[in-house]
Amino acid sequence: MKRRLSDIGEFNLIESIAKTVKTGPSVIRGIGDDCAVLGYKKNKYLLFTTDMIIEGVHFDRKKASPLSIGHKALAVNISDIAACGGTPKWAVVSAGIPKYIDNSYANDIYKGINNLAQKFGIDLVGGDTNRSEKLVLSIALLGEVLKDELVLRQGAQQGDSLVLTGPLREKPDHLRFMPKIKESRFIAKKLMPTAMIDISDGLLSDLEHILKKSQKGAFLYESLIPIGGKKAPVKKVINIGEQFELLFTIPKSMLKFIPKGFYVIGEISGSRPFITFVGCSGERKKINPRGYTHF
Ligand code: ADP
Ligand code: MG
Repeated sequence: MKRRLSDIGEFNLIESIAKTVKTGPSVIRGIGDDCAVLGYKKNKYLLFTTDMIIEGVHFDRKKASPLSIGHKALAVNISDIAACGGTPKWAVVSAGIPKYIDNSYANDIYKGINNLAQKFGIDLVGGDTNRSEKLVLSIALLGEVLKDELVLRQGAQQGDSLVLTGPLREKPDHLRFMPKIKESRFIAKKLMPTAMIDISDGLLSDLEHILKKSQKGAFLYESLIPIGGKKAPVKKVINIGEQFELLFTIPKSMLKFIPKGFYVIGEISGSRPFITFVGCSGERKKINPRGYTHF
C-alpha cells in the first residue's frame, strides 16, 4: 500500500532514506545529525550541512525584506554548524528565482547573505541559478571542527544537565536571528558538552532527537524554562520552532562554569527516550513532542 508523506512524517521519511544509503570510511557521521562529519585533517573534521528556504513555507515575501531572506538562508545553515561545535567556512548558494524578481531585489538578497557571511568569516564560493515558480534559496555550507570539540546529538549521559543558550519566544525573530557560533565555541571549549542540537523544530521535538540518538530520557521543569519577549505559556512555546537557541547536555560538575544568560531547564534520566514534564506545582506528565514537521 502506498503511504502519503503526511502519514509517514518528515523524520520517518529521513530515516527510511538513511536506510538506503551506504557510506565509505571517510564518513564519520552521515544522515541523522545537524551536520555530516567527514574525515579531513589530523586534528580536525569537516562539517557539511545544507538547508533550503522556500517562499510561503519559511518566509512570506510580503512581510520579509530581500535582505532578511538572504540573511535567513545562510543563518539556518550556520546554526547547524554551531550545533556541532564547529566554525563555518565555505558556502555555495542555489537560487530558484521567480519572474517577478528584478535585479535590485536579487542584489539585496545577496547583500543579506554577504553581510552575514562576512560577519562569520564565510567565503561564498559558488552556486546555481534557475527560474522557478516560487523564490527558493538552498545553501550548502562547509565548516571545520577540532576532533575533540565535535558535539553530536548522541552522547547525553545519565545525570547530565540540560541547558539552553537563551530564552524561548512565542514569536522568535526567525528572519533576523544571529546563529549561536560564539556560544557554541564556548560550550565546546569550556563545558565538556555530551550532546547538542539547535532548536529549529521546537524544544520538545529537538530534545527528542537528542534523547533518541542518546538512548536516554529527560526531565523538563516548567518553572525553569525561560520565556523571552511577550509572556506566553511555557506549554505552547516548547512546541514552537525556529528559535535557533542551542540545547545541550553537560555533566553536572560543569554547571559552575555556565555563563549568565544560559539556562538549566532539566536533566537526563533513564534509558528510554521519554520526556517527563514537571509542571510548576510538581505534577509529572509524560509528553509527546508536537514540534514543526514538514508533512
Ligand atoms: P536540521 O533541522 O538540523 O536541518 P533536518 O531535520 O533537516 O535537520 O535533517 C535531519 C538529518 O537528515 C540531517 O542529517 C540531514 O542531512 C538529513 N536529511 C534531511 N533531508 C534529507 C534528504 N532529503 N536526503 C538525505 N538526507 C536528508
Ligand atoms: Mg539542526
